[in-house]
Amino acid sequence: MRLKGKTILITAAGQGIGRASAEACLKEGANVIATDINQEALQKFKSDCPEVQTYVLDVMDSNAIKAFAKTIPNLDGLFNCAGFVHNGTVLDISDEDWDFSMNLNVTSMMRMCRTFLPGMLEQAKITGSSSIVNMASMASSIKGFPMRTAYGATKAAVIGLTKGIAADFVKKGIRCNSVNPGTVNTPSLQGRISSAPDPVQAEKDFIARQPMGRLAEVSDIAPMVVFLLSDESQCVTGQSLSVDGGVTI
Ligand code: NAD
Repeated sequence: MRLKGKTILITAAGQGIGRASAEACLKEGANVIATDINQEALQKFKSDCPEVQTYVLDVMDSNAIKAFAKTIPNLDGLFNCAGFVHNGTVLDISDEDWDFSMNLNVTSMMRMCRTFLPGMLEQAKITGSSSIVNMASMASSIKGFPMRTAYGATKAAVIGLTKGIAADFVKKGIRCNSVNPGTVNTPSLQGRISSAPDPVQAEKDFIARQPMGRLAEVSDIAPMVVFLLSDESQCVTGQSLSVDGGVTI
């Protein structure tokens, strides 16, 4: 039980990587607060795993985040997972697309960190350590991918946000790291594949980006999240850890 007694909040936990990570945290004994904008997905999660606490939270809603924070205990762990993939080159990015991507992928994480950090600092005074994990991507400052300019810019910003928080609070028991997956088989990836002009070729192209010759599964990413939320990683902060199927060999 590597997370026994820890209270961990996860965003975008209704499906995909967020839900898999939430389930992995439950298995390791954490009290998991799973949040998502999608009530139906949370209801399904709750019926599959009655021990999970669920809450509908739009991470783009500053007031809702503040109100929610007042209702829950101080956190030991926060996993900011919510994010959106814009598909296109720089020529395809409207001002609205850019603002939406920055708001959902970056500003929401800053708001979550800003809101929950004071409680995490209090908790760290008792336990010695609290951990923030932010979802970045290989498409970021690490590597450029075709049609991912807006997305890559937001995820590069997530890495910067992560390092800044780590630097400011390293002496106060707060660790902050990001996870950078390669291409992961999730409902949103399946959506990107099925909306491509040639879905069969699109899936082949996604797999071809992975030197291991397969898509990552959510079960490949969740163990890294658990590690970063656990005390096993207590000497790890400000890092950007890749789980990329060999993309950056
Ligand atoms: P997914 O689309 O399968 O699930 C995303 C979840 O986010 C959904 O349950 C959705 O309801 C929720 N969500 C959307 N907007 C929200 C909001 N405003 N507030 C709260 N919740 C909201 O996603 P996924 O593929 O598991 O991706 C999760 C994260 O991992 C994202 O940040 C994504 O950028 C990142 N990522 C994914 C991949 C991949 O290949 N799938 C690769 C690298 C990084």
